Amino acid sequence: MNCIFCEIIKGNADASLIYKNDKVTAFMDLYPINKGHVLVVPNEHHMKFTNLSEGVPSEMFSAAQKILKAIEKTDIACEGANIFLCDGEVAGQDVMHSHLHIAPRFSGDGYRMGFSGASPYESTRDQLDNTAKLIKEEL
Ligand SMILES: [Zn+2]
Repeated sequence: MNCIFCEIIKGNADASLIYKNDKVTAFMDLYPINKGHVLVVPNEHHMKFTNLSEGVPSEMFSAAQKILKAIEKTDIACEGANIFLCDGEVAGQDVMHSHLHIAPRFSGDGYRMGFSGASPYESTRDQLDNTAKLIKEEL
């Protein structure tokens, strides 16, 4: 298996590293949507977010918060940020090693982030309650 993120974590591939601990590694995205676009990746290789070991998802978000605080102290344009994870090819995952994006945003940057296909109609409370029930039964 040839995983570029695993190679970066092992130090075998080039990356602009900014943070590393025993659970996660963070480095600059090679194809940034804006300056300061960082990826936080688990040190263990898993494609799916649901397969990550306990404690790793929280560490990813904790690292993301630290890094975003640091970005906000720089002169990098960052009026806000998108912090997102694409889980699976169908959701836009491009590298099959789970990773969290931190993408600084500023007004006029020209990007749109969101669910373009979201229903224009508000769901009924019954619909939402039924879906909530399906999920809660598995928690
Ligand atoms: Zn990997």
